[in-house]
Amino acid sequence: MDAHKPDGNIGTVSTSRREAILMLGATLLAGPAAAQFPSPKPACVLTPEQTEGPYFSHHALERADIRRDPSDGSVARGVPFTLSLRIFAIGKAGCSPLPGATVDVWHCDAAGFYSDVADPRGDTRGKKFLRGYQVTDANGVARFQTIYPGWYRGRTVHIHFKVRVKSAAGQDAEITSQLYFPDKLTDAILARPPYPRTSARRTRNEDDGIFRHDGRDLMLAPEKQGAGLGAVFDVGIRV
Ligand code: FE
Repeated sequence: MDAHKPDGNIGTVSTSRREAILMLGATLLAGPAAAQFPSPKPACVLTPEQTEGPYFSHHALERADIRRDPSDGSVARGVPFTLSLRIFAIGKAGCSPLPGATVDVWHCDAAGFYSDVADPRGDTRGKKFLRGYQVTDANGVARFQTIYPGWYRGRTVHIHFKVRVKSAAGQDAEITSQLYFPDKLTDAILARPPYPRTSARRTRNEDDGIFRHDGRDLMLAPEKQGAGLGAVFDVGIRV
């Protein structure tokens, strides 16, 4: 669990690292790989549901920047990633942006660890890094500042999310699913610190049994944004 030990360098990014991240982003987005990124699927399509997995936590904080762990003040290190989820309500009357929905996001850190779990690989109970929730604004948008996730054994790189809606009629709606990244982009990101290179990533998107169920409809299309990357993804939920 070295990855979660308080680290004097946590939260401070050296100039050289910042430059490396900037160069990485520029390289990734300037090359032909950019053209291969799938474009976001159109709004107003029901988003496929996928398993919640074992790492959802009811203790997440309401916050936009999910990188910090309040228990020790450390900040998860990695390529900055801004995720904007636009939530659309799909009903009999059609489709419209959904304000007031609760959107949870959670994913593992650069070394593949989740917070707030008692896992055979390590105990991170009580920590809250890389998880949080937002309530969608008037445009149905919830925006998170996080990092590009690392990976763990048996899974391709992914972000979990859950959307919960309380309608005026008292009809609750909920959707739980996962988001994925282009493998080529992941390979480039994970080749550099602070992503550990202890062993090769074996499970790519098409090798992942969960991805194979509708994962192609859950692909992010990251673009350069500030010192890192960002992606917008439209989520359609039946209300
Ligand atoms: Fe997971």
